[in-house]
Amino acid sequence: MANKIVLLPGDGIGAEVIYAAKDVLEAISKKFGKEFEFSSHDIGGIAIDNHGTPLPDETVEACKKADAVLLGAVGGPKWDNNPSDLRPERGLLGIRKALDLYANLRPVKGFDKLLHASPLRPDIINGSDLLIVRELTGGLYFGRPSERQDNGNAVVDTLTYTRKEIERIVDKAFQSAQLRKKHLTSVDKANVLESSKLWREIVEEKKAQYPDVTVEHVLVDAAAMKLITNPTQFDVIVTENMFGDILSDEASVLTGSLGMLPSASLAEDGVGLYEPAHGSAPDIAGKGIANPIAMILSAAMMLRYSFQMNEEAQTIEDAVEQVLNQNYHTADLYNKNGELVNTNEMTQLIVETIE
Ligand code: NAD
Repeated sequence: MANKIVLLPGDGIGAEVIYAAKDVLEAISKKFGKEFEFSSHDIGGIAIDNHGTPLPDETVEACKKADAVLLGAVGGPKWDNNPSDLRPERGLLGIRKALDLYANLRPVKGFDKLLHASPLRPDIINGSDLLIVRELTGGLYFGRPSERQDNGNAVVDTLTYTRKEIERIVDKAFQSAQLRKKHLTSVDKANVLESSKLWREIVEEKKAQYPDVTVEHVLVDAAAMKLITNPTQFDVIVTENMFGDILSDEASVLTGSLGMLPSASLAEDGVGLYEPAHGSAPDIAGKGIANPIAMILSAAMMLRYSFQMNEEAQTIEDAVEQVLNQNYHTADLYNKNGELVNTNEMTQLIVETIE
């Protein structure tokens, strides 16, 4: 039976890179005799333009019926001044909530041939290979009230978490660590925030269930510093929604570009959503120069996590590495030594390597 994949291209470079991932999946389909069935739906700014809402019901329904969802990116200056319920990002937050995608997994791995592309010294980033496990459906981005008060002169955002929300993400992080180097760093702000104190208590309680995993607690401000001064000390990092949002973008400098970072967002028993860590990049949208690798590696994560196609996923990851090793670079990674390629050329190089 065909695996049903919903494509949500979204806005800006989202629509450019998602079709790169589709080309790569079609190459995998041919090589391994797998069947994928694709359908495309609107989300974000394009959905506001076409349907008057950033997350049309038909998009949610299609995602719920799918086996997996690939998302490009949403947002852009055209919608920046919209009221908050008509902002593209609402579509993104809405689909995460609708599918209960509580766990966001972001692997950050340095590629040897891209050490030059990072602003950090090669001896610092060489060998970095970590996984950020970010809680995705709770915390400050979802807590209510979140509003202006006192005629606009005061403001409130709310940070809430339940024990169950923390327990399930902490479990996912311990289990991820068991599959890797068995070291878990829990990042919080337990010296100040009550939510972090409960977070830390739960990590301590859970330790007994995973005796093979070593655990350390690091405050978020220190973690931000250690991530760029000594990144190789990390294996799996688990943290709440906003800290994870910030730290995962910071971690992207280890790979040289946001265009290299894939992610998986997983529900407890349902559909998974896979998307690059970057946004819609309005500054380069429409130029055909975006790096498609984060999106393509997200498709590989989809094969691994949603379809248990490990060999197929590995084939994509190996093809990406091989093309980079041949010194082909999109503009975000280019250092004048290799060969500069655009989105289509990079995609075709990866497709040809798979074939
Ligand atoms: P961004 O990630 O879109 O871009 C940041 C910088 O990285 C830009 O200079 C961009 O050109 C570059 N970049 C990003 N991805 C790239 C790629 N694949 N190849 C080459 N260069 C790449 O972040 P931003 O500029 O802060 O936000 C732009 C828009 O995207 C905003 O509307 C924001 O709300 C939205 N956004 C969406 C998501 C999402 O859909 N998941 C995430 C972050 C930001």
